Amino acid sequence: MIVVSGCLLGHDCKYNGGNNLNKDVVEFVEGRSYVAVCPESAGGLKSPRPPAEQIVMDGGIKVMDKEGKDLTFEFDAGASRCLVDALEYAFRHGEVIDAAILKANSPSCGVGAVYDGTFSGTLTEGDGVFARKLMDMGIGVYTENNFKENIK
Ligand code: SF4
Repeated sequence: MIVVSGCLLGHDCKYNGGNNLNKDVVEFVEGRSYVAVCPESAGGLKSPRPPAEQIVMDGGIKVMDKEGKDLTFEFDAGASRCLVDALEYAFRHGEVIDAAILKANSPSCGVGAVYDGTFSGTLTEGDGVFARKLMDMGIGVYTENNFKENIK
């Protein structure tokens, strides 16, 4: 079973009320077992909403929106909820989570690179909150940019 960022499948859960529809991802998951998730929606955040980015502060990683609101709890809760939902789906269907295809650069879903907290479009090394939870479980996590080379 594959976990997929809902916005890549055209769900309008992106911060600006739109989506990140990716036809390659849609075609890849068609006919496969998959679960679409949006950790930020699952954390109770509405669309549209102000953009948010990860910021390293006080010795840890926080998530702040552009208006200065601390959304660390919402991002963490939403990521945990999505992880539980995906595990429950896999359990019910007698499957395991084989891999994830997540939206690149997002503070929740980014893999290897995320926006740096300056809201200037600048990337820095790091992973999204949800991506980290999947990685901690040993699940292969990829983005729309590299899933084809990595998931069979
Ligand atoms: S990148 Fe992740 S958290 Fe952001 S809209 Fe897409 S699925 Fe939701």
